[in-house]
Amino acid sequence: MTTYDDFERTAGGAVLMDGNKLRDEIVAGIRAKIDSLGNPAVCLATVLVGADKPSQIYVRNKHRKAEEAGMISRHVELAEDATQDDVENAVRDLAEDSGVHGILVQLPLPAGLDAERVLDLVPPEKDVDGLTERSMGRLVRGRVGHVPCTPLGVMRLLDRYGVETSGKQAVVIGRSTLVGLPQVLLLGRKGCDATATLAHSRTSDLAGVCRQADIIIAAAGMARLVTAEFVKPGAAVVDVGISRTEDGIVGDVDFDAVQEVAGAITPMPGGTGPMTIGCLMENTLAAARMLGAVPT
Ligand code: NAP
Repeated sequence: MTTYDDFERTAGGAVLMDGNKLRDEIVAGIRAKIDSLGNPAVCLATVLVGADKPSQIYVRNKHRKAEEAGMISRHVELAEDATQDDVENAVRDLAEDSGVHGILVQLPLPAGLDAERVLDLVPPEKDVDGLTERSMGRLVRGRVGHVPCTPLGVMRLLDRYGVETSGKQAVVIGRSTLVGLPQVLLLGRKGCDATATLAHSRTSDLAGVCRQADIIIAAAGMARLVTAEFVKPGAAVVDVGISRTEDGIVGDVDFDAVQEVAGAITPMPGGTGPMTIGCLMENTLAAARMLGAVPT
């Protein structure tokens, strides 16, 4: 049986897995660590191509949090009509710059640019988004490397809010390389020890599959896909999805109904989104350690 500590609860009695609060704890912890080391320069560099408004906001938030964490940041902005060579040259410069520890290329890139070729230029030590082929390979092989920030943030939430994973059934909805696939790998890793099922749009009886689960992680991008009938009483439900609807931004989980049944639930917003940024800061400090800029 999953046990939960004395955490804040929703009206229906579920533990509220507060991503803003945990992100703030992580950022404050990193700041304290950097301070205690005499403030070595830890640098996160971002690359933004084009004028996509949400991407601009995401990047701005990342810089703000980096500053709060006691890091310095650099930003390279390229116009919408930048060529593949322009973007690759910008990333190559950052890869070669010993003063830069983490590189984040904000995705998606404008149409016509090949993101894979750009990501290939990010060295694994600096790949704080954990999305390159080599970082994913390290995750699969169980070698030291950076783990993608969103699934890592989900793991931090489960851990912080006392959600037992060992021997539990987990269902991840969505199989992207950004979220679902690494999420399943993390849940099934030794030490975490969940039995993880990867569900997707061809999964038959998704509600029935989810009802078996002690942990549901919804990363499909389908507004309010997970209703109360998907949820076993007491299960932990984590909402990763973000859909822009007429009602505003909506998650994959029907929060109002599900919080009546779940044992723990993430709010939306305020759950996995802030944790993604918190884990980016964690990865950036780890990158500086891997590169020898900060003592281990
Ligand atoms: P994606 O690449 O579009 O993948 C979506 C996955 O969901 C696919 O595997 C798809 O299955 C599956 N899916 C779609 N509809 C489904 C349904 N009705 N039933 C079951 N599975 C279904 O998206 P992504 O990049 O993984 O992102 C997923 C969501 O998370 C998006 O809303 C995105 O905005 C959000 N997101 C949030 C954060 C955060 O920080 N909170 C970070 C990243 C992404 P098939 O493979 O069969 O097509």
